[in-house]
Amino acid sequence: MTRMSPLLERNEQFARDYVPVALGLPTAQVIVVTCLDHRVDPAIVLRLQLGEAPVIRNAGGRVTQAVIEDVAYLAFLAEQLFGGQLADDRLFEVAVIHHTQCGTGFLADPGFRRQAACSTGLAEATLEAAAVADPHATVKADVERLLASPLLSPKVSVSGHVYDIATGRVTTMVEARQP
Ligand SMILES: [Zn+2]
Repeated sequence: MTRMSPLLERNEQFARDYVPVALGLPTAQVIVVTCLDHRVDPAIVLRLQLGEAPVIRNAGGRVTQAVIEDVAYLAFLAEQLFGGQLADDRLFEVAVIHHTQCGTGFLADPGFRRQAACSTGLAEATLEAAAVADPHATVKADVERLLASPLLSPKVSVSGHVYDIATGRVTTMVEARQP
């Protein structure tokens, strides 16, 4: 018995009537970038099904260099494999979703941040960059950061949203636009 045991049991049930999904374009034509918080699972909050949308998650759902590189690779892959199947000139929309009550919010406090840096060995600047104290402000900044990246395919659009933990509602802050 490990802590994974009950989850593996759930997987056993899942696999019983599982139907494999063939590799293809994500059918929702969306890539979700969001926080790793266990209260913010896009599969549940957005009712995503298998094959609908790649999801990239990190602390805060921040647009880091690693996220930009993942999006660039996904765009390249989609273009290589399925470029001919696209009806228009757009590959997909990247939806950046930040949320209220984010655990990274504590990192906006310099004292807390210093303590976190000391005990984890992470750089204070890295921790500061991860902080989501005001999701409405950070999501706008991150949409701009992604749109400004030279690595972003011109066939990708970017939008920004805030998920409210208290209501379960996602509100669009920045409408989708291309670079
Ligand atoms: Zn969070």
